[in-house]
Amino acid sequence: MADTRIYVDHGATTPTDPRVVEAMLPFLTEKFGNAGSVHQFGQEARAAVDQAREVIASAIGATPQEIVFTSGATEADNFAVLGAAWANETRGRHIITSTIEHHAVLEPVRFLQSRGFDVSYLPVDRYGRVDPDDLRAAIRADTVLISVMHANNEIGTLEPVAEIGRLARERGILMHTDATQSVGILPVHVGALAVDLLSMSAHKRYGPKGVGALYIRKGSNVARVQHGGSHERNRRAGTENVPAIVGFGAAIAIALDCMSDEAARLRRLRDRLIEGVARLDGAHLNGHPVERLPGNVNVSFEGADSESILLALDLQGVAASSGSACTSGSLEPSHVLSAIGLGPEVAAGTVRLTLGRWNTDEDIDDLRAVLPEVVGDLRAAAAGRPPRAVSYRSAQSSAR
Ligand SMILES: *Cc1c(COP(=O)(O)O)cnc(C)c1O
Repeated sequence: MADTRIYVDHGATTPTDPRVVEAMLPFLTEKFGNAGSVHQFGQEARAAVDQAREVIASAIGATPQEIVFTSGATEADNFAVLGAAWANETRGRHIITSTIEHHAVLEPVRFLQSRGFDVSYLPVDRYGRVDPDDLRAAIRADTVLISVMHANNEIGTLEPVAEIGRLARERGILMHTDATQSVGILPVHVGALAVDLLSMSAHKRYGPKGVGALYIRKGSNVARVQHGGSHERNRRAGTENVPAIVGFGAAIAIALDCMSDEAARLRRLRDRLIEGVARLDGAHLNGHPVERLPGNVNVSFEGADSESILLALDLQGVAASSGSACTSGSLEPSHVLSAIGLGPEVAAGTVRLTLGRWNTDEDIDDLRAVLPEVVGDLRAAAAGRPPRAVSYRSAQSSAR
């Protein structure tokens, strides 16, 4: 029978588009060659990798030579941060980043800090936006890298990267942005953003897991981080993951093709969902009201805790998250929610609902019915009152 579950955790990962799977299959079977081999098997693989590289480069306004395939955005972020720092440390050992970056940026930055680099963490306002004036004030003569994400994965806020990029370029400082959440759903152009380094990942845009890319602007001084063979123009050693790279290319081609329609549809669904939950008692929308990712809804419910909400939603067939997949399971309040000024009490009741390609208006209707029930029941339980007998979705789809 049809899956009646509702998946609203696209910020963590997306289902692979069937067209992507189809494009990948030959490269998992008969077209198995190593893209580094000289024979026909190798040439076939090389051609497919080059084609994907062209699609991905043109999607962000880059040239194919500026794209380096990686194992995902985590590796791309590590490569950007460590590679830029190590290549330029004779010029200076100061890095600027924001307090709301993904751990894939924050952790390599912290590692460098432990090795003697100085780090300035830019604060954000209550919507999660960095102020370019704060950046201007933080720049020093020994600053060698600025890293500010394009769109935040938890609260969906879009950052003023173009403005920051221009400031960085004026000063001759390398600028990195993690655009994992925005590539393929919002226009991302490396020239318009004035960035030197940009991270992406396939599995956030209906492609396979374990593949991504780092854009490295021509002429940028970035050291290699993964040493070994001379793959990827000697910038990233390791046999190319041909099926995954082909899938990444196919996913980006599809995303570009439907981007403006998909973004408009997701915004409409998002706003219907926000309208439905934000008016509930003790509910607060986190992130920027307008400058936010098309599919992102992040709400805090007073007097309920995320873990219980997520478990109750899961029982109703709704898959959501509390913030980022990487931090779930830890009881610490998210660094992003702390950075926007949420107290631990309010942050503890936060749910992230991230919509995607196959969510429907009916999903939104269901979510608008289920969320108030779940939160109401949890609050009632906390107050020692019994929950209601029948719940909306279990009555609707008794099969689950
Ligand atoms: C998911 C995500 C990452 C990590 O990407 P992987 O490909 O899973 O390693 C990094 N940054 C952001 C903003 C993300 O959303």
